[in-house]
Amino acid sequence: MSQTTQNEPEKLEIVKYGHPALRQKGARVEKITPEIQALAAAMLETMRANKGIGLAAQQVGRALQLTVLDLRGVTDRPSTLKLDGQESDIAAIMPLVLINPEIKPSGEPATAPEGCLSFPEIYGDIERPSMADVRATNEKGQALQFSCGGLLARVIQHENDHLNGILFIDRMKRDIKAELKPKLEELHAATKAALKLKK
Ligand code: ZN
Repeated sequence: MSQTTQNEPEKLEIVKYGHPALRQKGARVEKITPEIQALAAAMLETMRANKGIGLAAQQVGRALQLTVLDLRGVTDRPSTLKLDGQESDIAAIMPLVLINPEIKPSGEPATAPEGCLSFPEIYGDIERPSMADVRATNEKGQALQFSCGGLLARVIQHENDHLNGILFIDRMKRDIKAELKPKLEELHAATKAALKLKK
């Protein structure tokens, strides 16, 4: 694609645990405006710059039903994708912008480690259903529908939780969360202190 820089998306600040935006349920995106398209592009740029594979609007301080993903850089954790009834390579739908997603998790529960750009250097095992059926609209206003498994199903459920104000620590087993408690409290306090300074 062309190397034009005239519409180069800006990078956004990722808010950290303790920021109130992370607990807000996202409003439905009623219309895909140029502003929404620019936000999605900036979120993708911000996610890549931070080496993330998923980012929700709440994480850039916007409570909207909008999330972006790109798993093409992941080689050690497999994903499956069924698109139009056909097994497909996930690259076919990446980068992925999901607007107003409806997620139906299914399948056996699976446990695997997760991290989150709003929780730097904090990781923990999370149990989630191993598959998900997804319906959403993309940034072009096109309807998307697919089924997925593996890492893609996990990331989509993690991001969809963000859109509803739910964080991965809410789904951690008690003993794992207890182990992380000092780190979590430190991060929460640092975020609150930084917010106070900004006022
Ligand atoms: Zn997250």
